[in-house]
Amino acid sequence: MSNRSYYIAGNWKMHKTRAEAAELAKALVTQLKDGKHLYLVAPSFTSLETVAAIVKGTNIRLGAQDCACEEQGAHTGEVSVLQLKDLGVQTIILGHSERRHTYKEDDALINKKVKLALKHGFEVILCIGELLEEREAGKVETVCETQTVKGLEGVSAAELANIVIAYEPVWAIGTGKTATPEDAEAVHAFVRTVIARLYGADAAEKMIIQYGGSVKPENAAQLMAKEDIDGALVGGASLKPETFVPIAKFA
Ligand code: PEP
Repeated sequence: MSNRSYYIAGNWKMHKTRAEAAELAKALVTQLKDGKHLYLVAPSFTSLETVAAIVKGTNIRLGAQDCACEEQGAHTGEVSVLQLKDLGVQTIILGHSERRHTYKEDDALINKKVKLALKHGFEVILCIGELLEEREAGKVETVCETQTVKGLEGVSAAELANIVIAYEPVWAIGTGKTATPEDAEAVHAFVRTVIARLYGADAAEKMIIQYGGSVKPENAAQLMAKEDIDGALVGGASLKPETFVPIAKFA
């Protein structure tokens, strides 16, 4: 067993009005107050202020799903780290597969955002993961290594303490197909060797690596039982307390 904490995060994506977000956040605050792990919710930008007031002072961290790569300026439609800090956001999810593949964010852009978020004191959840065709072509390790190395370019050893990695095979996100615990573990262990090569064995041992991709109450415990799987980044199942709380309190 490692000394790492389990870290369960909910990515609410583009779901929920402020009233709906408030209802979910209140239910989670109540139902997770005796939870033993680290928790985070990442509502849409529009609900951040509402949810911030509800999770403040609880064991649930507040996350944003993305940020702009510049601090401020003429960037219509973007949201900056300064604005997120002002709302009480503590963590920013970066490089989510929907940002990489639907909105064509490349490793250089993601790396710019990672460095900016770290500079402003945020925790970063850096998402990596391969497409189905990359898995079928035997490129899982190459893709995950490249996304990790390029995503962390210029990140110091001290800053690495504020990085969490989320391994999310793209073919498993929102599809109901989960990687087997063995397949996920193999990638998590590999990513840890990449971190060890870049930052040393101690840093690698401390790195929290979440799994994401159709995590449900039924499969959470088997995934978390694996040595190198330190939590989950949950999409669909994070939208209701009935499905998120059992994952967050997996036994
Ligand atoms: C995600 O979007 O990060 C995710 C893992 O989604 P889902 O749990 O719905 O597959």
